[in-house]
Amino acid sequence: MPYDLIVIGSGPGGYVCAIRAAQLGMKVAVVEKDKTFGGTCLNVGCIPSKALLHASELFDEAGHTFGKMGIKVGAPALDLPAMMKFKDEGVDGNVKGVAYLLKKNKVDAFQGVGRITAPGKIEVESANSKTETIETKNIVIATGSDVARLRGIDIDEKRIVSSTGALVLPKVPAKLLVVGAGVIGLELGSVWRRLGSQVHVVEFLDRILPGMDLDVAKSFQRILQKQGITFRLSSKVTAIDSSGPTLKASVEPAAGGAAETIEADVALIAIGRVPYTEGLGLEAAGVKLDDRKRVAVDAHFATSVPGIYAIGDVIAGPMLAHKAEDEGVAVAEIIAGHAGHVNYDVIPNVIYTFPEVASIGKSEEELKAAGVAYNTGKFPFTANGRAKVNLQTDGFVKILADAKTDRVLGVHILGPDAGNMIAEAAVAMEFGGSSEDIARTCHAHPTLTEAVKEAAMAVEKRSIHM
Ligand SMILES: Cc1cc2nc3c(=O)[nH]c(=O)nc-3n(C[C@H](O)[C@H](O)[C@H](O)COP(=O)(O)OP(=O)(O)OC[C@H]3O[C@@H](n4cnc5c(N)ncnc54)[C@H](O)[C@@H]3O)c2cc1C
Repeated sequence: MPYDLIVIGSGPGGYVCAIRAAQLGMKVAVVEKDKTFGGTCLNVGCIPSKALLHASELFDEAGHTFGKMGIKVGAPALDLPAMMKFKDEGVDGNVKGVAYLLKKNKVDAFQGVGRITAPGKIEVESANSKTETIETKNIVIATGSDVARLRGIDIDEKRIVSSTGALVLPKVPAKLLVVGAGVIGLELGSVWRRLGSQVHVVEFLDRILPGMDLDVAKSFQRILQKQGITFRLSSKVTAIDSSGPTLKASVEPAAGGAAETIEADVALIAIGRVPYTEGLGLEAAGVKLDDRKRVAVDAHFATSVPGIYAIGDVIAGPMLAHKAEDEGVAVAEIIAGHAGHVNYDVIPNVIYTFPEVASIGKSEEELKAAGVAYNTGKFPFTANGRAKVNLQTDGFVKILADAKTDRVLGVHILGPDAGNMIAEAAVAMEFGGSSEDIARTCHAHPTLTEAVKEAAMAVEKRSIHM
């Protein structure tokens, strides 16, 4: 009996899709080439990076703010192997959780590299090169993404590392060069800065965090600089000489010009990620890619071949775990004949540094470019009672609302716990809410969320605490 659905890849897109499909009564299997389930996110992405961000943040606080609150602990000492063990145990617990959920939902698992040999046929090659062919009515490609590389620079995952190597460094590098001022570079740069590295970030563009609201990005850069991270914008790393005891990176102005040398002990290449379609047999199967080598899909996640769908990092859209998960649910529902849907206008984006950065919807630049008239309400954490008493006053909340209808079009939070607070904006926006809806919603005192309410009140210039 063929399966109703086989999902290739067990990341947040793939495993969530498999579980939802099983809930809907389908006979489901997943194919995963790695030893553990959970994909990039659980093994080498979201989960391990957040474990190190959490631990290093507490380490930083113990060294710098505990004393101010009357907690005397002396200078904290770093036990890096123990911190890595803490992270690894967190990863282990999470990947085992996925294995448990797949089993509980009666999803079969095949370990090996999956290749589509024809619509409805997948050949799985296991580590010992044994192959078997499994048959299915539908296929979902959820093979995710891989590290983007710089031409001429070999990632050895020891001294020249991707995010994967940066999560397992055996000692704190005295000097860390981060190539790329995107989310991953700034998160992992923050981890190693807190643990003692001198961190220098080189970015091709003239700003950090491309795509993020510029006002937020500029304020965030100032905060990171105050913390000790240095930046060289509008610059490109063209080569890294690793023949000597320290790395020598050649850095040129982005527009071209004389190269300078920057020395570092470790270089983190964090210039983005690329869709992963290697070995899947897509060309032979007739599955079309788009101009950026992502699997091309329609609004229902269907590829160019009937019965083959794709979701997550391997298709267009933000490379985020929760986007992949929502697509996993939607495609399972569509295959089952329901009306699965993802609202791409309401996908939060969070950077888990300190302070955190969280945004949803449109930036000011996007609204201006689209010619949309909007009102802005902004409220700083310096005026929020809870932030003040916690000594965490960097940042602000900014709400962008349609000038005519007051509908919330974008919310941007730079501040402590921004990643949790953005959920309120997501719900409001999903319901088509206005800034007045948020402003008239009672928020508990004293909480950081009052800054969201005050920013909403500021849209109509009636915030109380400013
Ligand atoms: C350091 C880092 C930090 C991140 N932090 C966050 C964060 O905080 N929040 C967030 O939302 N996102 C974060 N991301 C991004 C997030 O990890 C991805 O968006 C998410 O994992 C994409 O899910 P996916 O299911 O599409 O693919 P993946 O998670 O990449 O899973 C794809 C799976 O498919 C398997 N596979 C590939 N090809 C085959 C094949 N032919 N046969 C069998 N199996 C195959 C792979 O082994 C992998 O397990 C981070 C990424 C990195 C690298």
